[in-house]
Amino acid sequence: MERIGFIGLGNMGRHMSANQLKGQRRVSAYDLSPAAVARAQADGCEGAASVADCVRDAEVVITSLPAGPHVRQVVTEEVLPAARPGTLIVDCSTIDVQTARDLSDLCAEKGFRYADAPVSGGMMGAEAATLTFMVGCRDDDTYADVEEAVRPMGKAVIRAGGPGAGQAAKICNNMLLGVSMIGTCEAFALAEKLGLDGQRFYDIASRSSGQCWSVTTNCPIPGPVPNSPANNAYEPGFATAMILKDLKLAQACAASAGASAPMGAQAEGLFALFDQLGYGNRDFSAILQLFRGRLAELA
Ligand code: NAD
Repeated sequence: MERIGFIGLGNMGRHMSANQLKGQRRVSAYDLSPAAVARAQADGCEGAASVADCVRDAEVVITSLPAGPHVRQVVTEEVLPAARPGTLIVDCSTIDVQTARDLSDLCAEKGFRYADAPVSGGMMGAEAATLTFMVGCRDDDTYADVEEAVRPMGKAVIRAGGPGAGQAAKICNNMLLGVSMIGTCEAFALAEKLGLDGQRFYDIASRSSGQCWSVTTNCPIPGPVPNSPANNAYEPGFATAMILKDLKLAQACAASAGASAPMGAQAEGLFALFDQLGYGNRDFSAILQLFRGRLAELA
């Protein structure tokens, strides 16, 4: 596995494509943005002039695109007509489950292999090659090839199940994350109102049953976790707009599966409000300031 075609060189893809080079692969890189392609070239990738140019000689095509419609359009209209049959297509974007299933079926019909392999770990994980991949694909042989393909970009690769299962896992995980961040921010805001020192509340919650990633890694108050975005004016990290996208996907999935996810719906509503107030590009832990009634401090 030596030739990778990488499509989508944004916040995640720019680092992921660069890490493929460290895995001793030749990487042809394409993005709609010429500046992103130039940056990938500076990293050592071959700059492609089009998707067709990018995928023509690839054994594996990796996509990291904004949302489902982009992935559907790029794969069906641009990758499949140009790539060699048998090529493995690994989509690392976060998209809806149905699009992933449809693309898996279409690729199989046309003699290609497709896997959904969304990631957890954010931009820092993309840069440090410590992403976790959640993989949905048809069979064990495809999974083995996906594992090898993504290894230079991550620390863990986990088979979630059949086509679409990787996206299902990502969406459920991030719904849990959105809900836990809201709960964490409510708790820190209430602790403050009750006169508790933030550091002391952290010391207790981080070693009690309230412990979770939102407390111990992405702590919403500055101080207790030196690397958390709260110490850096809530620069993301994980932007509010991104968790909102994932919570919307979760509600759409819940509706189509006949499931009820009321806490996910509440979290979606709160992050939608925070986004509308103009904080979409702040780390999602900044929603603490809404509960504190101190939004002005984010200006
Ligand atoms: P981004 O918007 O920074 O990058 C997407 C890139 O795709 C852009 O450079 C854009 O120009 C390019 N693009 C769009 N349409 C294209 C097309 N038709 N052909 C070629 N290039 C095209 O997004 P990102 O933050 O890098 O995220 C990528 C995916 O990873 C998303 O699905 C996101 O939900 C997911 N994700 C992001 C994070 C994160 O922290 N940023 C974490 C986990 C998962």
